[in-house]
Amino acid sequence: MTTTLITGANKGLGFETARRLLAAGHTVYIGARDAERGRRAAERLGARFVQLDVTDEASVRAAAKTVEADGGLDVLINNAGIEQRGENNTVPGAAELTADTLRAVFDTNVFGVVRVTHAFLPLLRRSAAPVVVNVSSGLASLSKVSDPADPAHPYPGVAYPASKTTVNMLTVQYAKAFPDMRVNAVEPGFTATDLNGRTGTQTVEQGAEIIVRMAQIGPDGPTGAYVDAEGTLPW
Ligand code: NAP
Repeated sequence: MTTTLITGANKGLGFETARRLLAAGHTVYIGARDAERGRRAAERLGARFVQLDVTDEASVRAAAKTVEADGGLDVLINNAGIEQRGENNTVPGAAELTADTLRAVFDTNVFGVVRVTHAFLPLLRRSAAPVVVNVSSGLASLSKVSDPADPAHPYPGVAYPASKTTVNMLTVQYAKAFPDMRVNAVEPGFTATDLNGRTGTQTVEQGAEIIVRMAQIGPDGPTGAYVDAEGTLPW
Protein backbone atom coordinates (compact mmCIF):
# COMPACT_ATOMS: atom_id res chain seq x y z
CA MET A 1 0.00 0.00 0.00
CA THR A 2 1.42 3.39 -1.04
CA THR A 3 0.74 6.43 1.14
CA THR A 4 0.96 9.83 -0.52
CA LEU A 5 0.81 13.39 0.80
CA ILE A 6 -0.03 16.25 -1.55
CA THR A 7 0.43 19.79 -0.24
CA GLY A 8 -2.13 22.38 -1.36
CA ALA A 9 -4.47 19.65 -2.57
CA ASN A 10 -7.83 21.22 -1.71
CA LYS A 11 -8.18 22.51 -5.29
CA GLY A 12 -6.51 22.84 -8.68
CA LEU A 13 -3.75 20.48 -9.82
CA GLY A 14 -3.26 19.05 -6.31
CA PHE A 15 -6.91 18.06 -6.03
CA GLU A 16 -6.92 16.41 -9.46
CA THR A 17 -3.67 14.58 -8.62
CA ALA A 18 -5.29 13.30 -5.41
CA ARG A 19 -8.31 12.06 -7.35
CA ARG A 20 -6.13 10.16 -9.82
CA LEU A 21 -3.78 8.64 -7.24
CA LEU A 22 -6.73 7.45 -5.13
CA ALA A 23 -8.09 5.76 -8.28
CA ALA A 24 -4.64 4.15 -8.71
CA GLY A 25 -4.92 2.69 -5.19
CA HIS A 26 -2.83 5.12 -3.14
CA THR A 27 -3.84 6.18 0.36
CA VAL A 28 -3.87 9.96 -0.10
CA TYR A 29 -3.52 12.79 2.37
CA ILE A 30 -4.92 16.11 1.19
CA GLY A 31 -2.67 18.72 2.79
CA ALA A 32 -4.47 22.06 3.10
CA ARG A 33 -3.82 25.21 5.11
CA ASP A 34 -7.55 25.80 5.64
CA ALA A 35 -9.16 22.97 7.61
CA GLU A 36 -12.64 23.60 6.25
CA ARG A 37 -11.54 23.62 2.58
CA GLY A 38 -9.23 20.64 3.15
CA ARG A 39 -11.84 18.51 4.93
CA ARG A 40 -14.43 19.21 2.29
CA ALA A 41 -12.01 18.24 -0.51
CA ALA A 42 -10.96 15.06 1.31
CA GLU A 43 -14.60 14.07 1.88
CA ARG A 44 -15.44 14.59 -1.78
CA LEU A 45 -12.65 12.23 -2.83
CA GLY A 46 -12.56 9.72 0.02
CA ALA A 47 -9.06 10.91 0.95
CA ARG A 48 -7.54 11.68 4.35
CA PHE A 49 -7.07 15.29 5.43
CA VAL A 50 -4.13 16.81 7.25
CA GLN A 51 -3.87 20.50 8.16
CA LEU A 52 -0.67 21.86 6.69
CA ASP A 53 0.37 25.43 5.95
CA VAL A 54 3.74 25.20 4.21
CA THR A 55 4.75 28.61 5.58
CA ASP A 56 4.12 27.53 9.18
CA GLU A 57 6.82 25.36 10.77
CA ALA A 58 4.56 24.20 13.65
CA SER A 59 1.77 23.11 11.32
CA VAL A 60 4.22 21.20 9.09
CA ARG A 61 5.77 19.42 12.10
CA ALA A 62 2.33 18.54 13.48
CA ALA A 63 1.31 17.15 10.08
CA ALA A 64 4.43 14.97 9.97
CA LYS A 65 3.61 13.61 13.45
CA THR A 66 0.05 12.78 12.40
CA VAL A 67 1.12 10.99 9.22
CA GLU A 68 3.88 9.14 11.10
CA ALA A 69 1.44 7.96 13.78
CA ASP A 70 -0.92 6.70 11.04
CA GLY A 71 1.80 4.52 9.49
CA GLY A 72 4.27 6.67 7.52
CA LEU A 73 4.76 8.08 4.03
CA ASP A 74 5.98 6.80 0.65
CA VAL A 75 5.27 9.67 -1.74
CA LEU A 76 5.52 13.40 -1.08
CA ILE A 77 4.15 15.82 -3.66
CA ASN A 78 5.27 19.39 -3.00
CA ASN A 79 2.47 21.07 -4.92
CA ALA A 80 1.37 24.11 -2.85
CA GLY A 81 2.36 27.26 -4.67
CA ILE A 82 1.51 30.90 -5.26
CA GLU A 83 2.12 33.43 -8.01
CA GLN A 84 1.91 37.20 -7.53
CA ARG A 85 -0.81 38.78 -9.64
CA GLY A 86 -1.84 42.43 -9.78
CA GLU A 87 -5.03 44.16 -10.92
CA ASN A 88 -6.87 42.56 -13.86
CA ASN A 89 -4.83 39.41 -13.32
CA THR A 90 -1.64 41.09 -14.60
CA VAL A 91 1.79 39.82 -13.60
CA PRO A 92 3.99 42.56 -12.04
CA GLY A 93 7.35 42.93 -13.81
CA ALA A 94 10.92 43.63 -12.69
CA ALA A 95 10.24 47.33 -12.03
CA GLU A 96 7.60 46.40 -9.43
CA LEU A 97 9.68 43.69 -7.75
CA THR A 98 10.41 44.31 -4.08
CA ALA A 99 12.27 42.21 -1.56
CA ASP A 100 8.99 41.76 0.34
CA THR A 101 7.20 40.28 -2.68
CA LEU A 102 10.13 38.02 -3.41
CA ARG A 103 10.20 36.88 0.22
CA ALA A 104 6.45 36.13 0.26
CA VAL A 105 6.65 34.03 -2.90
CA PHE A 106 9.79 32.22 -1.74
CA ASP A 107 8.24 31.52 1.66
CA THR A 108 5.57 29.35 0.02
CA ASN A 109 7.24 28.09 -3.17
CA VAL A 110 10.79 27.53 -1.88
CA PHE A 111 11.00 27.56 1.93
CA GLY A 112 7.67 25.68 1.94
CA VAL A 113 9.24 22.86 -0.08
CA VAL A 114 12.23 22.75 2.28
CA ARG A 115 10.08 22.88 5.45
CA VAL A 116 7.86 20.04 4.28
CA THR A 117 10.66 17.92 2.81
CA HIS A 118 12.79 18.30 5.94
CA ALA A 119 9.88 17.36 8.23
CA PHE A 120 8.84 14.31 6.19
CA LEU A 121 12.34 13.11 5.30
CA PRO A 122 12.61 10.67 8.25
CA LEU A 123 9.28 9.09 7.21
CA LEU A 124 10.30 8.86 3.55
CA ARG A 125 13.62 7.27 4.42
CA ARG A 126 11.75 4.46 6.18
CA SER A 127 9.74 3.74 3.02
CA ALA A 128 10.81 0.86 0.73
CA ALA A 129 10.32 3.05 -2.35
CA PRO A 130 10.31 6.75 -1.44
CA VAL A 131 9.34 9.31 -4.07
CA VAL A 132 9.29 13.11 -4.03
CA VAL A 133 7.63 15.14 -6.77
CA ASN A 134 8.34 18.87 -6.75
CA VAL A 135 5.80 20.79 -8.78
CA SER A 136 7.99 23.25 -10.65
CA SER A 137 7.12 25.18 -13.82
CA GLY A 138 8.33 25.69 -17.37
CA LEU A 139 9.13 29.21 -16.15
CA ALA A 140 11.84 27.68 -13.95
CA SER A 141 13.94 27.00 -17.04
CA LEU A 142 16.71 29.58 -17.54
CA SER A 143 17.14 28.21 -21.09
CA LYS A 144 13.48 28.63 -22.01
CA VAL A 145 12.87 32.03 -20.38
CA SER A 146 16.02 33.50 -21.99
CA ASP A 147 15.21 32.15 -25.49
CA PRO A 148 13.28 34.77 -27.53
CA ALA A 149 11.72 31.95 -29.59
CA ASP A 150 10.26 30.20 -26.53
CA PRO A 151 6.64 30.85 -25.42
CA ALA A 152 7.97 31.37 -21.85
CA HIS A 153 10.15 34.31 -22.97
CA PRO A 154 7.58 37.16 -22.76
CA TYR A 155 6.56 36.32 -19.16
CA PRO A 156 7.47 39.50 -17.19
CA GLY A 157 7.24 38.21 -13.59
CA VAL A 158 10.41 37.67 -11.56
CA ALA A 159 9.51 36.24 -8.14
CA TYR A 160 7.58 33.22 -9.42
CA PRO A 161 10.09 31.97 -12.02
CA ALA A 162 13.02 32.65 -9.65
CA SER A 163 11.27 30.58 -6.97
CA LYS A 164 10.72 27.68 -9.36
CA THR A 165 14.33 27.79 -10.63
CA THR A 166 15.31 27.39 -6.97
CA VAL A 167 12.93 24.43 -6.67
CA ASN A 168 14.79 22.82 -9.58
CA MET A 169 18.13 23.24 -7.79
CA LEU A 170 16.65 21.83 -4.58
CA THR A 171 15.47 18.85 -6.63
CA VAL A 172 18.94 18.20 -8.08
CA GLN A 173 20.66 18.45 -4.70
CA TYR A 174 18.10 16.33 -2.81
CA ALA A 175 18.29 13.71 -5.57
CA LYS A 176 22.08 13.47 -5.22
CA ALA A 177 21.94 13.43 -1.42
CA PHE A 178 19.35 10.63 -1.26
CA PRO A 179 20.11 8.09 -3.99
CA ASP A 180 17.55 5.64 -2.55
CA MET A 181 14.85 8.20 -3.17
CA ARG A 182 13.37 9.30 -6.53
CA VAL A 183 13.24 13.11 -6.46
CA ASN A 184 12.06 14.93 -9.57
CA ALA A 185 10.76 18.32 -10.70
CA VAL A 186 7.75 18.49 -12.99
CA GLU A 187 6.22 21.15 -15.24
CA PRO A 188 2.46 20.60 -15.51
CA GLY A 189 2.02 23.11 -18.37
CA PHE A 190 -0.15 26.24 -18.49
CA THR A 191 -3.33 25.03 -16.80
CA ALA A 192 -6.61 26.81 -16.00
CA THR A 193 -6.57 27.13 -12.19
CA ASP A 194 -7.10 29.93 -9.65
CA LEU A 195 -3.31 30.52 -9.70
CA ASN A 196 -3.55 32.27 -13.07
CA GLY A 197 -7.14 33.48 -12.88
CA ARG A 198 -8.13 30.44 -14.96
CA THR A 199 -6.33 31.82 -18.04
CA GLY A 200 -4.39 28.57 -18.51
CA THR A 201 -4.97 26.72 -21.76
CA GLN A 202 -4.92 23.16 -20.40
CA THR A 203 -7.48 21.36 -18.23
CA VAL A 204 -6.45 20.16 -14.75
CA GLU A 205 -6.76 16.61 -16.10
CA GLN A 206 -4.02 17.40 -18.66
CA GLY A 207 -1.91 19.37 -16.19
CA ALA A 208 -1.97 16.69 -13.50
CA GLU A 209 -0.82 14.00 -15.95
CA ILE A 210 2.94 14.39 -15.36
CA ILE A 211 2.53 14.85 -11.59
CA VAL A 212 0.56 11.60 -11.39
CA ARG A 213 3.07 9.77 -13.60
CA MET A 214 6.12 10.89 -11.61
CA ALA A 215 4.37 10.05 -8.33
CA GLN A 216 4.12 6.44 -9.51
CA ILE A 217 7.68 5.78 -10.70
CA GLY A 218 9.45 2.81 -9.17
CA PRO A 219 12.96 2.54 -7.69
CA ASP A 220 14.35 2.13 -11.26
CA GLY A 221 12.79 5.39 -12.43
CA PRO A 222 14.61 8.67 -13.03
CA THR A 223 15.83 10.93 -10.24
CA GLY A 224 17.08 14.52 -10.35
CA ALA A 225 15.10 15.08 -13.56
CA TYR A 226 13.06 18.04 -14.79
CA VAL A 227 10.22 16.84 -17.00
CA ASP A 228 6.89 17.67 -18.56
CA ALA A 229 4.39 15.29 -20.18
CA GLU A 230 6.51 15.19 -23.37
CA GLY A 231 9.89 14.47 -21.78
CA THR A 232 12.99 16.15 -20.32
CA LEU A 233 13.16 19.95 -20.21
CA PRO A 234 16.30 22.11 -20.48
CA TRP A 235 17.40 23.58 -17.13
P1 NAP B 1 -4.22 26.66 -7.32
O1 NAP B 1 -5.47 26.09 -7.89
O2 NAP B 1 -4.19 28.09 -6.92
O3 NAP B 1 -3.79 25.74 -6.08
C1 NAP B 1 -2.74 26.08 -5.23
C2 NAP B 1 -2.89 25.30 -3.96
O4 NAP B 1 -1.81 25.64 -3.09
C3 NAP B 1 -4.19 25.62 -3.21
O5 NAP B 1 -4.71 24.44 -2.65
C4 NAP B 1 -3.71 26.57 -2.12
O6 NAP B 1 -4.53 26.57 -0.95
C5 NAP B 1 -2.36 25.94 -1.83
N1 NAP B 1 -1.50 26.80 -1.03
C6 NAP B 1 -1.07 28.06 -1.27
N2 NAP B 1 -0.33 28.51 -0.26
C7 NAP B 1 -0.28 27.51 0.66
C8 NAP B 1 0.33 27.36 1.93
N3 NAP B 1 1.05 28.36 2.50
N4 NAP B 1 0.18 26.18 2.59
C9 NAP B 1 -0.52 25.17 2.05
N5 NAP B 1 -1.14 25.26 0.87
C10 NAP B 1 -1.02 26.42 0.17
O7 NAP B 1 -2.99 26.52 -8.33
P2 NAP B 1 -2.43 25.28 -9.18
O8 NAP B 1 -2.26 25.79 -10.57
O9 NAP B 1 -3.20 24.04 -8.94
O10 NAP B 1 -0.96 25.16 -8.56
C11 NAP B 1 -0.39 23.96 -8.08
C12 NAP B 1 1.09 23.98 -8.37
O11 NAP B 1 1.31 23.91 -9.78
C13 NAP B 1 1.82 25.23 -7.89
O12 NAP B 1 3.06 24.87 -7.31
C14 NAP B 1 2.05 26.01 -9.17
O13 NAP B 1 3.15 26.88 -9.10
C15 NAP B 1 2.27 24.87 -10.15
N6 NAP B 1 2.09 25.22 -11.58
C16 NAP B 1 0.89 25.62 -12.03
C17 NAP B 1 0.77 25.93 -13.38
C18 NAP B 1 -0.54 26.40 -13.95
O14 NAP B 1 -0.56 26.82 -15.12
N7 NAP B 1 -1.65 26.35 -13.22
C19 NAP B 1 1.85 25.81 -14.26
C20 NAP B 1 3.07 25.37 -13.73
C21 NAP B 1 3.18 25.07 -12.39
P3 NAP B 1 -5.71 27.66 -0.71
O15 NAP B 1 -6.95 27.13 -1.41
O16 NAP B 1 -5.83 27.67 0.78
O17 NAP B 1 -5.25 28.97 -1.30
